[in-house]
Amino acid sequence: MKIIKTVKDFNFKNKKTLLRVDFNVPIDKNHRIIDDTRIQYSIPTIKKIISDQGKVILITHFGRPKGKNLKSLSLNFLVHILSKKLKTHIKFHDNCIGDETEKKVNELKKGEILLLENLRFYKEEEEENEQFAKKLAKLGEFYVNDAFSVSHRSHTSISLLPKLFNNNKCIGMLMEKEILFLNKFLSGKGKKPITVLLGGAKIYSKIKVIENMINFSDYLIIGGGISYPFIKIKGGKVGNSIIKDDQTIDHRLIHSILSKDNRNIIHFPNDVIIADSFNNSANTKICNIYSIPDKWIGLDIGPNSIKHFCHIIKKSKTILWNGPMGVFEFKKFSTGTKSIAKAIAKSTTENESFSLVGGGDSIAALKTEGYDKKISYLSTGGGAMLEYLKNKSSIGIQSIIM
Ligand code: AMP
Repeated sequence: MKIIKTVKDFNFKNKKTLLRVDFNVPIDKNHRIIDDTRIQYSIPTIKKIISDQGKVILITHFGRPKGKNLKSLSLNFLVHILSKKLKTHIKFHDNCIGDETEKKVNELKKGEILLLENLRFYKEEEEENEQFAKKLAKLGEFYVNDAFSVSHRSHTSISLLPKLFNNNKCIGMLMEKEILFLNKFLSGKGKKPITVLLGGAKIYSKIKVIENMINFSDYLIIGGGISYPFIKIKGGKVGNSIIKDDQTIDHRLIHSILSKDNRNIIHFPNDVIIADSFNNSANTKICNIYSIPDKWIGLDIGPNSIKHFCHIIKKSKTILWNGPMGVFEFKKFSTGTKSIAKAIAKSTTENESFSLVGGGDSIAALKTEGYDKKISYLSTGGGAMLEYLKNKSSIGIQSIIM
């Protein structure tokens, strides 16, 4: 495997460095940041380049302007936030390409930072456009990717841009950390037992991960909506439980996964909470997952499943979690997800296990109870995490290695 270079391998003195970050942070209606984790995690990369006396040109997308120059999605609001965090004045320019932008970049002095306007104000950013890549490349002598959460996307600044920098390209410290932690699971080198918990509703985004993780995990727990296609194929009656995009589910792949599981590492819920309608005031009962009556819907894992999964988590030394165990948005069906969140936090603090959690829903579930502070690492990318686990790499990483 090719070794990927990081910012630690270079000296950026005097170098105009294009740093692709993901500052697409959630904000409220007053443009106040709700969660600044992504910014916070990229600060060490910015500091490293600055301490080398390099010149930092920050590029990022924000929201979904779809090629339009929308004032509401301008990055201007980040200037004072970044200036405060980095304890230095951050410059801003209201474009990310063109003559004026090049002029601003060329005016940068050693150790200065310039934030450029939203990449997605150009539709070419999301279209892998060579001309747009060339215009961006004019701005720097060095390219750094620290945008893990979009590293699986075929977007110009991720996939094409780095290819224009020969050997002058590398990953930042946020990316390095994410890769390092995910590799604990892919190499099987994490402390054993290694447990992977997958939940949620979109089976197509997780099925290949399941196929891959069979080779590396000691326990592979499949809960939430993605368990039902498996149960159905195993001959169970699942009532009206979610079988998302039935046609797109590759039945052969599910059969193949089940047949490969000769170590019995896959664990499904045995009991579930079923409801007679999809809402918080539905009638509910506990039911065996293989015999859900017609018209009833499985919306959470049941008490025995919680007990079983928590027992596995308790004895695990390396834990990865992506996707809720039920429709946790409804209080009535949130017990399973909350119990898992608590068990992972407890195992991390009491058994010194390593825990890695990704995906907006799982992190939100942890946060409601304040368990997020007890997790070893919260990934900045749910989808990117799954893609990495599936392919053992990502488009952005490949473009750096090439
Ligand atoms: P995903 O993006 O695939 O991680 O899916 C997250 C969504 O899965 C959340 O909005 C949950 O409400 C939903 N979900 C989890 N379990 C179930 C279930 N048993 N039935 C329907 N939706 C579910």
